[in-house]
Amino acid sequence: MAGIYIHIPFCKSFCNYCDFYSITDNSLKEALVQSVIREASLRSSYLENETVETVYFGGGTPSLLEPATVSALLSVLRKNFSFAADPEITFEVNPDDVYKGQFRALKKAGINRISLGLQSWDDKRLRYLGRRHDAAQSARALGLVFSEGISNVSADLIYGVPGMTAADLADDLEKTFAFPVTHLSAYHLTVENGTKFGRMKQSGKLEEIDEETSASMFSLVGRVCSEHGFVQYEISNFAKEGFISRHNSSYWKQVPYLGLGPAAHSFDRRSRQWNVGNVRKYIKAIDSGEIPCRREELDKTRVFIEYVMTSLRTMWGIDLTHVEEFYDKELHDYLVNLSGKYIRYGLMKREKNALVLTDQGRMISDNIIRELVENL
Ligand code: SF4
Repeated sequence: MAGIYIHIPFCKSFCNYCDFYSITDNSLKEALVQSVIREASLRSSYLENETVETVYFGGGTPSLLEPATVSALLSVLRKNFSFAADPEITFEVNPDDVYKGQFRALKKAGINRISLGLQSWDDKRLRYLGRRHDAAQSARALGLVFSEGISNVSADLIYGVPGMTAADLADDLEKTFAFPVTHLSAYHLTVENGTKFGRMKQSGKLEEIDEETSASMFSLVGRVCSEHGFVQYEISNFAKEGFISRHNSSYWKQVPYLGLGPAAHSFDRRSRQWNVGNVRKYIKAIDSGEIPCRREELDKTRVFIEYVMTSLRTMWGIDLTHVEEFYDKELHDYLVNLSGKYIRYGLMKREKNALVLTDQGRMISDNIIRELVENL
């Protein structure tokens, strides 16, 4: 099993909270696509003939690509890698880019899952976040995606925004669930350095919401999603039965993946690689047949730490059989011993041979994970 991620590093403008790599100058879009095509063939052996189960177009803003370009990119991937019979192929879309016929054309190109960046249904909050779209455009995009034949649709929401109340969050969730979405990613706002919000925080113009409000919003998301039949399969991700994102899950299960494009990361269980976060440098290097990436070799402990950090955030938890077989008995025993106190406090439970966080444990998952890995 393997996955492929394609980073499309262009945005019409920057959102105030976002620290993903992108640029607003679209003039290099065509050249970038050609370089991604070239990179796919240069790295055709990276996945060592593993079957590609998922492809994810992220960004930046993939919806700035024409469906014909998406089709060309997918053909190249199919030529260079061996694909599963039913791959999950996701495409991120911003509501303001949507036009009639686009989803039909994307479906024809091979896209079978759409991830829509709604973030909020409140126009004032959307403006505060620096989003370019409004609620009416979100509703239109959702109307079009379902009427044009793509039924596997994920929505992104952001909560924990300064000034936001629990009632605001409930409203965002209800308005999203008024459409037959199959998946929801609900992220708590994090204020990152280097973003507009980061600068506002430094100058005292932004105050993050308090921990108690954050925790109650987190619980509210879980409760409302559960009422709508969505299972919380990861801290920030919820899905209807049969619609858990295979691509997201593969990251958490340490399935190898290849990242194409500027700033894209790759992982082959032994190392991590990350491409240069600069469109011009990326194109120039690929043109001369080089992969402009840095590489970090991962020792077993490091891979294990990443496994603990990611798997504990999921509903499957830490698979102790996997730990014993893939890592070693010592690490297995370390986890079993340390988990005892969390189990006694009701923060963790043992399910078959896995360690899984309880609802209470999920509220303080970062603290638990930190303690589990800090002594390794
Ligand atoms: S959130 Fe999306 S659209 Fe906004 S700047 Fe980041 S990548 Fe671009």
